[in-house]
Amino acid sequence: MAVAGEDYPRSFAEMRAWFDTDWKCRDYLDWLRWPDGFVCPSCGSGAGWRLTDRLARWKCGGCGRKVSATAGTVFDKTRTPLTVWFAAAWRLVGDKVGVSATQIQREMDLGSYQTAWAMLHRFRSVMVRPGRDRLRGDVEVDESYLGAPQTGGFGRGALGKVLVAGAVERDDGRAGRARLAVIPETDVLSLRAFLIANVEPGSRVITDGLLSYRGATGDLYTHDATSVASTGLTAHEVLPAVHLIFSLVKRWLMGTIQGSISPEHVQAYLDEWVFRLTGADHAAAGSCSTPCSVTPSALNRSPITISVRLVAPARRHVQYQELEPHRQASMSAIRFSRGATLPKRPRPATMRKRVLTGVSKWRPQLLKIRRI
Ligand SMILES: [Zn+2]
Repeated sequence: MAVAGEDYPRSFAEMRAWFDTDWKCRDYLDWLRWPDGFVCPSCGSGAGWRLTDRLARWKCGGCGRKVSATAGTVFDKTRTPLTVWFAAAWRLVGDKVGVSATQIQREMDLGSYQTAWAMLHRFRSVMVRPGRDRLRGDVEVDESYLGAPQTGGFGRGALGKVLVAGAVERDDGRAGRARLAVIPETDVLSLRAFLIANVEPGSRVITDGLLSYRGATGDLYTHDATSVASTGLTAHEVLPAVHLIFSLVKRWLMGTIQGSISPEHVQAYLDEWVFRLTGADHAAAGSCSTPCSVTPSALNRSPITISVRLVAPARRHVQYQELEPHRQASMSAIRFSRGATLPKRPRPATMRKRVLTGVSKWRPQLLKIRRI
């Protein structure tokens, strides 16, 4: 069992102190990957030594290959300093409500919004533990649109079309573990696929009177349907746990992320939210539920590659200072209206220019993002 203060830092301050250089971050990743010492991933040899190159790679004594502890992880080939990655991971998972890319960009002093966004998204991509347990026992299941489809306003229209299915364990009258997934429709096939992926067969599935659930549960589950209309109860009283989860996740999406999500990224945000909500779920499975648990699980897979290049320090460094929130509205409008593409950096024209001299820092700049 991992020990706080020994195996992982206890606080943000302690984390910054432990991991103040990239070398120390790599050392830590080495230890996470090879707790019993180096093992070559290609020939299995246990003999090897550390090179003194920038990536702190290992040279295998068996086959001579050079191996980096970050190969195949979310940190693979990144040019963003690992110290920044570690701090961002902490902020993303450590905070109760998470963090937005704008906050990360400001706090870590990153050159571009895209770099911050891509970093957070890479972490989100590994937040679903492969082979995690399905829910069991009494499970409330319901579906909901994330926003009101008919109302206007930036961002809301797009989210209003996103249909999300939710499953929540009923645990002594309280909400237990939860699963959320974007589904195409409320038909039998979509709901059945959602149930099979997230709820252990044999469980008692509690739903409202929607007919699709009868076919979706079929002979795999015990189905307990209550028609909200016929009981005179409100939907909140019939399915309290799943309704609580829906209202919390909607509040979070509108609060932390401020609704600036394009529909195809909703699942990643839902995964992040469930990951944060069910930290205890992860702890039980053997990995610690601290912010750094993102690093061990991050070692499992890396579905996207992100190319970032470092931009040389300019002699005169121009920094754009953000305007007050009410004056940012027009810039947000630009971002929302772009819809499906990567969020763009706010236009410099709407920002106040501040010219600094004597600032010399290598800044990471995102080149491309690609799904493998
Ligand atoms: Zn080898």
